[in-house]
Amino acid sequence: MELQPDKFKLIAGDLSLDLVNTASKWQRAENSFSPTGDSLADISDLVSWAIKAKAVDEGTARRVLKSAENDKLDARVLRRVKKLRSAIYGIAIAMITGKAPFPDDVDCLEKARSRALDGQKIEYVRGRLELRRRKEEAPLDAVLDSIALSAVDLFTSDRAERIRVCGGESCGWLFVDDSRGRNRHWCDMRDCGNLAKVRRFRRKSSKV
Ligand SMILES: [Zn+2]
Repeated sequence: MELQPDKFKLIAGDLSLDLVNTASKWQRAENSFSPTGDSLADISDLVSWAIKAKAVDEGTARRVLKSAENDKLDARVLRRVKKLRSAIYGIAIAMITGKAPFPDDVDCLEKARSRALDGQKIEYVRGRLELRRRKEEAPLDAVLDSIALSAVDLFTSDRAERIRVCGGESCGWLFVDDSRGRNRHWCDMRDCGNLAKVRRFRRKSSKV
C-alpha cells in the first residue's frame, strides 16, 4: 500500500469540510447528494488523507497498513466515510443556500456523532483524566469519529454562517471564511484565485 499524503490539499479550515473536498462534481438526487469525482479511491487514499489532515497518528496508520489484508473491514470504513462525507456536503450546501438539509443527512451525522461519543470514555491515568476509546475497533473508526465531531462543532457554531463555496469555475470546494474582512472568495489564491485574475486580465486585454 502506497501512501501519498501530499496529493491532498487542506484549505477548508475545518476537518469535515476538508473531507468533503476529497470529492467533486456533486450531483443532487431526490434526497441526497453524490459526487461523480472522487480522490478517495481506496483505503490507502483515506489513510493518506487522514495523515495529511492529522486525523490519524502515524502509529494508527501503521496498524491500518498491517491490517490491510482485511479488505472487508477496509471497505466498510471507506463506505461509512463516504456516506458521512455526502451528508456533510448536503448539510453545508443547505446552510449556504439557506434551505433545510435533507433529513437523511442530519440523521447520518447524528448517528455518527452518537457513535463517536459512545466510543469514548474518560480514564484517570497518571495524575490526569484522559479521553480514551472504549473498545478497540477498526483503527480508522477514530478518524470517522473525529470527522463527525468536527462537523457537529462547525454546524452548531457561528462559523456555520461562514461556510462558502470557492468562486472558481468548476471548483466547488468548500471552506470556512475566517478571513478578517470576511471576503475570502477562493479555495486557494494560487489556484482558483490566480486563474480568475488571469481570466480578468485576458478579458481586459482582449478589449484593447
Ligand atoms: Zn477553488
